[in-house]
Amino acid sequence: MKLAERIARLEIESAFDVLVKARALEATGRSVVHLEIGEPDFPTPPHIVDAAKLALDQGWTRYGPTQGLPELREAIAAYISRTRNVSVSERNVCVVPGAKPILFFSMLALLEPGDEVVYPDPGFPIYRSMIQYLGAKPVPVPLLESRGFSFDLNILRDRLSSRTRLLILNSPQNPTGGVIPGEDLREIAALVRDRDLMVLSDEIYSRIYYTAEAPASIATLPGMLEKTILLDGFSKTYSMTGWRLGYGVMPEWLVEGVNKLMVNSNSCAASFTQRAALAALTGPQIAVEQMVEQFRNRRDVFCRALNTIPGFRCTPPGGAFYAFANVEQTGIPSKDLADRLLERAGVACLNGGSFGEHGEGYIRFSFANSLENLLEAIRRMKEMR
Ligand code: PLP
Repeated sequence: MKLAERIARLEIESAFDVLVKARALEATGRSVVHLEIGEPDFPTPPHIVDAAKLALDQGWTRYGPTQGLPELREAIAAYISRTRNVSVSERNVCVVPGAKPILFFSMLALLEPGDEVVYPDPGFPIYRSMIQYLGAKPVPVPLLESRGFSFDLNILRDRLSSRTRLLILNSPQNPTGGVIPGEDLREIAALVRDRDLMVLSDEIYSRIYYTAEAPASIATLPGMLEKTILLDGFSKTYSMTGWRLGYGVMPEWLVEGVNKLMVNSNSCAASFTQRAALAALTGPQIAVEQMVEQFRNRRDVFCRALNTIPGFRCTPPGGAFYAFANVEQTGIPSKDLADRLLERAGVACLNGGSFGEHGEGYIRFSFANSLENLLEAIRRMKEMR
């Protein structure tokens, strides 16, 4: 037997690869500062953990509705309606295990072989992986450092064609931390409003931002709600990466397709984690605010320090918890530099090129780590020979 041909079209996420390499180094006694993986280093807030424990004691241990528990879907619909200034109902919400399945399921539900998908480069590697897996055509649009890692809108316009079925937006963005300005979103909406396509708006970092205003969602703009799949979840906002819970908000006709895929794969997301997620959304938000304040402080200190390393240049990001440093002036290809930083300096980080061709020349550092460890990483990088 051998693997089906389509499996070869799936790619991996380099963060998990580098983590394995780093762990192997640690097993030989080396010390590694982990700046590779994209997850908050804070514990899940205690009131959310307590809600999960209570739910287990109360017997929330059985299958639930495929689309998600009605009370959670209602809370999500109210939350999205409030924060995105739109009007959605629980009928528009699909609760799934982690946000990733929303990417997977919406693309499975929408794309035919040969359809084109326009997506950001550098970008979350799963986008291209899924597009290729489905036999659709990946159409990358470069993000420009000079525009705060937003699109060049002229290039975006050129890349849209009569075969474009999906446009993927991600703001705040992984790996650059870029936030799409409201003005750009309006122009993007004007470009796609009359086209026969959907927009997948990946807003998983929606609450982690350092700009004066919350990042805008394209769903808010006139005529866009019915064309948008809004992806968000609990992993990053509530430090719940291991709980696996996310959701999509989308038009009802698409919910039907996603529900079918859920029934065929997961049946439903875990019931007690959904009860905990309800507590996350409806309970106190102070832990989120405190986490973001800590990220802001780390961002300021870490980016300033990165700029003191010869050959490194880093503009503080507007959101997420990634510093995307331009390392072209070091004269070392970013892949080699990332390898050297791990092997020689004990600093695990990601080659920007692993996020797409236009990420070459950059290194992604996650600053979801203590200030002490971040400064230790800087010290090690400065001393590296
Ligand atoms: N979208 C982006 C841009 C991400 O960076 C991630 C996680 O790293 C996800 C989606 C997936 O989130 P989850 O862990 O909830 O599946």
